[in-house]
Amino acid sequence: MKILKFGGTSLGSAERMQNVANIINDGQKKIIVLSAYSGATNDLVAIADCLYKNDKASADQLISNFQQKGHDYVAELFTNEGYVAQAKEIIDNSVDQIRSFTIDMFTPFEEKSVLAQGELISTSLFHLYLQSVGIKSVFLPALNFMRIDREREPDYYYIQENLERELSNYADESLFITQGFICRNAFGEVDNLQRGGSDYSASLIGAAIEAEEIQIWTDIDGMHNNDPRYVKNTKPIEQLSFHEAAELAYFGAKILHPSSIVPARNKNIPVRLNNTLAPEAKGTIISKKTDETGIKAIAAKDDITVINIQSDRMLLAYGFLKKVFEIFEIYKTPIDMITTSEVAVSVTIDHTGHLEKIVEDLHQFGQVTVKKNFTIICVVGAFQLESKGYAGKILQALSSTPVQMISYGASEHNISLLVDKKHKKEALQQLNTSLFQV
Ligand code: ASP
Ligand code: MG
Repeated sequence: MKILKFGGTSLGSAERMQNVANIINDGQKKIIVLSAYSGATNDLVAIADCLYKNDKASADQLISNFQQKGHDYVAELFTNEGYVAQAKEIIDNSVDQIRSFTIDMFTPFEEKSVLAQGELISTSLFHLYLQSVGIKSVFLPALNFMRIDREREPDYYYIQENLERELSNYADESLFITQGFICRNAFGEVDNLQRGGSDYSASLIGAAIEAEEIQIWTDIDGMHNNDPRYVKNTKPIEQLSFHEAAELAYFGAKILHPSSIVPARNKNIPVRLNNTLAPEAKGTIISKKTDETGIKAIAAKDDITVINIQSDRMLLAYGFLKKVFEIFEIYKTPIDMITTSEVAVSVTIDHTGHLEKIVEDLHQFGQVTVKKNFTIICVVGAFQLESKGYAGKILQALSSTPVQMISYGASEHNISLLVDKKHKKEALQQLNTSLFQV
């Protein structure tokens, strides 16, 4: 069995959804995981925001727009009146549910139910569309098997048990449709895997049934070796290891949700990145294989904050870093980069929700400074630390850019550099020229 996940842009219009139907219609056994069509989740977030602010008039307007977009989509997707009516009912039922939350106090529980409507609609429409063109498929509600625990981590055991049970009801069927992104939480309420979480759903489903392959279909031909928004002539990377892909996904390559690497890697299931607009293109394959060496890709992650702690107490002391890290642990704030000297340590974070409290707590150790608006440039590949020249090449390429921090050697797959965001574009371009265009 294969898992095929299609993202919002791959369903961005009725025509695109029809194209997806063509791609999947080869008779092989598969589970199709769908996101909401593009824009839908953003619209739902905007509706929820208005409801939190008790701005009912704006919420009403946004809900009507959402409904109209749904109707327009349906009108393009179907010609047969019977199907048009059924499809409009799908949209209207969701809209009725959203409207039912506008009456009294709006809670996080209701917000989650609002956000779930995007995936519920896209999968229902797709299921109906397949039926209309004579392709048989089974609708598998993700809320029957996808679940997170109290720590908001996937409940692997529950997912596997319940998904297997669901599938066992349809032993002779080969095509299953389910929602990405949505799940239940430890209390059985509707919840989700965070924005962009459909990739994670696909990977969790693939891991649960030990799928042959997990395919993530988007509108670009795989992961590129640099950011195409800032650099010309980027190229798709044919093959990446799980490690390399995890670094790239985390440090900015928007194409794949970073969490989605973990379940696939744990069960050693290859992940293939495909392009709905060019289904024959090779794309990128992510697997255990790591036989290639050298620099493969560059990515950048913005909105990074640097915290520097200067402390004489660090001199010849042990246990100091532990105490510093404990503060980040208390505030559940991940650290991305770290550099140390004998009397100072710098760390970077990208979640600044608890920044003030963290800084307050760090003051007990010494002088703390905070600087914002940095970018981590991450160079990914298989470097083999005993080989020479990689660090030199990278720094040479950036000889005219102020580099604020460097992290090298922790992993054989990642060299990270911190630059002011205003130097990001030039840094990406300089690295591209020196590393890939020789
Ligand atoms: N629809 C959700 C979002 O826009 C999940 C996803 O697309 O992966 O974040
Ligand atoms: Mg996505």
